[in-house]
Amino acid sequence: MTLAPERSAQSGPITSDDTNPAVALSCRHCGATYPLAPTHVCVECFAPLEIAYDEDRLRRVTRESIEAGPLNLWRYVGLLPAGHDPARRVSLGAGFTPLRPAPRLAAELGMRKLWVKDDSANPTHSFKDRVVSVALSAARDLGFTTVACASTGNLAHSVAAHAAHAGLRSIVLVPHDLEAGKTVSTAVYGGTLVAIQGNYDDVNRLCSELAGEYEWAFVNVNVRPFYAEGSKTLGYEVAEQLGWRLPAQVVIPIASGSLLTKVDKAFRELGRLGLVEETPYRVFGAQAAGCNPVAAAFARGVDTVAPVRPSTIAKSLSIGNPADGPYALDVVRRTGGSITDVTDDEIVDGMKLLARTEGVFAETAGGVTVACLRRLLREGLLDPAEETVVYNTGDGLKTLDPLVETAVPTATIKASLSAFEAAGLGDD
Ligand SMILES: *Cc1c(COP(=O)(O)O)cnc(C)c1O
Ligand SMILES: [Zn+2]
Repeated sequence: MTLAPERSAQSGPITSDDTNPAVALSCRHCGATYPLAPTHVCVECFAPLEIAYDEDRLRRVTRESIEAGPLNLWRYVGLLPAGHDPARRVSLGAGFTPLRPAPRLAAELGMRKLWVKDDSANPTHSFKDRVVSVALSAARDLGFTTVACASTGNLAHSVAAHAAHAGLRSIVLVPHDLEAGKTVSTAVYGGTLVAIQGNYDDVNRLCSELAGEYEWAFVNVNVRPFYAEGSKTLGYEVAEQLGWRLPAQVVIPIASGSLLTKVDKAFRELGRLGLVEETPYRVFGAQAAGCNPVAAAFARGVDTVAPVRPSTIAKSLSIGNPADGPYALDVVRRTGGSITDVTDDEIVDGMKLLARTEGVFAETAGGVTVACLRRLLREGLLDPAEETVVYNTGDGLKTLDPLVETAVPTATIKASLSAFEAAGLGDD
């Protein structure tokens, strides 16, 4: 198979009009600004670029204007850099997922007030639908007709689905050892799926090279500044669902670190824009011990994140060289939070604990977050008396493998009453 270059006649920067609050890309390190184009690195200092907004345009957004919007992430379009022209908006209806009160899990952990923000309820069953909706809408605004990505699985599924829905060509690159559930649920949409003999960091490096060769929108490479903004909606929604206020503590899984930094960005924006009171909050990060570069940097008290070679069942979090790791460290340290990591056994226990207490079947990443919550409590780093939101970012049906040995029938018996009773399954 050959991957022919695809060049669109209209591909070019977005000319920001009055409806779009995004006005430029700006360097997170030196502040240099660039047009809203498919680019993600500052040519002055090589630091990542992010979207810069016109503050007056952001200030047009009110609680009422948000509440009048659709029951999906596009209710926050006034705070996002894409999707302003409904004709180019790419949406399968992601967002506005349940914020589930979790009283049984709270009781088991000795906590006072706990919620699970359950993003397994998204159209392709992970939080990636948020970033993909925004990235593909931006790709269309930028004139692309082909979208691509490097993925640990959930992004692949989401890009393939949204591209199919929008009639865009998709080229998805993944590590060859992905969970079967994620391979099948990506391939079914009929786009191009390429399995790479290497880990995610190898896939990502190849994508950076391909992005230099082909005029495709790589959702987490050249359009990453747009993509990343989609994660802000996980912050907006929690605040809105709590009745327009910020939670005191949040626990968020870290892969590249982007989600964690954007939830913080969302909380700060809401406060600055007067949509919530600026109450203090602490951000906690969750990683697997088998891929813990950000947790290790936090523990060592250093600013640089040393890459690791991932080996964990939490494949969706297996980024050994996380692009936003240093920014995640900044957020956690600034807010007085912490970052911890848990073993694969603890991850499985976390999945089962959440399922048993709240009826939510999380994927391994959710197991990481619940297990890290438990560890943070045990170590006295997270306050059991403060209101806490834990983020479940994916669906357990996609990662059955770690459970097939232990999540099994209580008994296997003949279809007879006597067999049922002999197996001790009756009431006494
Ligand atoms: C991608 C992903 C994350 C974290 O994403 P980053 O923004 O890269 O830190 C968390 N959970 C799941 C299930 C994911 O797929
Ligand atoms: Zn710069």
